[in-house]
Amino acid sequence: MKLADQHRSSNRTVLVVNSGSSSVKFSLVQPDSGIEMAAGIVERIGEQQSRARLEFGCREVERDTPVADHDAALRLIFDMFDEAGGNLETVGLVAVGHRLVHGGRELYEPTLIDDAVVAKARELAPLAPLHNPPAVLGVEVARKMLPDLPHVAVFDTAFFHDLPAASASYAIDRAVAEKWRIRRYGFHGTSHQYVSEQAAEFLDMPLDKLNQIVLHLGNGASASAIAGGRPVDTSMGLTPMEGLVMGTRSGDLDPGIIFYLARTADMAVEDIETMLNRRSGVLGMGGDNDFRELHRIIAAGSEPEAAHARLAYDVYIHRLRKYIGAYLAVLGDTHVITFTAGVGENDAKVRRDALTGLAPLGVEIDEHLNESPARGARVISAENSPTTVLVIPTDEELAIARACVAVLEVA
Ligand code: ADP
Repeated sequence: MKLADQHRSSNRTVLVVNSGSSSVKFSLVQPDSGIEMAAGIVERIGEQQSRARLEFGCREVERDTPVADHDAALRLIFDMFDEAGGNLETVGLVAVGHRLVHGGRELYEPTLIDDAVVAKARELAPLAPLHNPPAVLGVEVARKMLPDLPHVAVFDTAFFHDLPAASASYAIDRAVAEKWRIRRYGFHGTSHQYVSEQAAEFLDMPLDKLNQIVLHLGNGASASAIAGGRPVDTSMGLTPMEGLVMGTRSGDLDPGIIFYLARTADMAVEDIETMLNRRSGVLGMGGDNDFRELHRIIAAGSEPEAAHARLAYDVYIHRLRKYIGAYLAVLGDTHVITFTAGVGENDAKVRRDALTGLAPLGVEIDEHLNESPARGARVISAENSPTTVLVIPTDEELAIARACVAVLEVA
């Protein structure tokens, strides 16, 4: 079958690549059935010992070996896939989908990648210095290795491109904002869009009639307010640092802290950025960015670690509740609140603490449903709660794969 025809066949697959600074995540997805055929990760790229894992059907391959760069990482992925008995030639691969975090003002629709798109994405590096350069590197390596396939960029910022000006704009000097393209771009857009659409489908309600709050609580965390399928506010801004407290990022803070540290603590801007991105949030305050571990430290009660972890948890919940309150006000009448991503899908305590006491605002959780170990999309609100509360697993890879084939179909 020619490649051009292959993208219409129903067992077609898309290789989804998500390149971070020191890791490459990848998965092989059938966009039509939603089946994930293979998934894996190469971590600690460039360090002395890297780790790579691949699951393909019931087979698992692991490698602990130095991986010098992204080029080596992608080669290793293909090797491991061969070792697991897979064959990229025969899985009906029709495209490679790349997650790009920042698309700036101009790149937002899922886009067929050519040299000009790569150049543009490279130019956007100053807007997302931690995210865009490794993603662009991943695109370049993958294009070299799979030159006959279309490569498609899917931007984290896309869903929020048309945020209303009142929520997209910062109250700063207009000329400066315009010249330097400073606005609230929003991130995790693929997840917010996917989950809000799934919520409508799950409730069997038209998307355009629903006012929704989506809480994407993973290692990174963000909230969005969505009216009739269109986002009207989101917690992340120019960069993915704004908003909720996250695994390793501070979220909202007084910008004065940065000037104070630069002037008084004599910290370089890069060091402040690293501290706010990598050594803040629940890790920086509480000693671990994994909520399972955070709960364990608190339960163990050994001081002062337990007190630090407790405060980190309390700050996390306090910020989350502030955003929920803000978005209830932004939307007016909220029909659905949905929790998603690693913490949102798995941590019943976080969900309960985020919503306890909100019955006067129309939000009431059912303790029993909330504690249920069920997986998959589910309701966790009380029967008489005016706002329905859901847990819906996100699937950014599937959403990226579907966006890819949609691009191919119009191309
Ligand atoms: P990302 O994609 O941003 O790396 P995920 O959405 O996979 O993040 O979320 C990872 C986080 O989810 C972990 O750091 C951990 O805090 C949390 N998590 C995963 N499983 C559980 C669980 N069973 N209970 C509580 N938290 C969990």
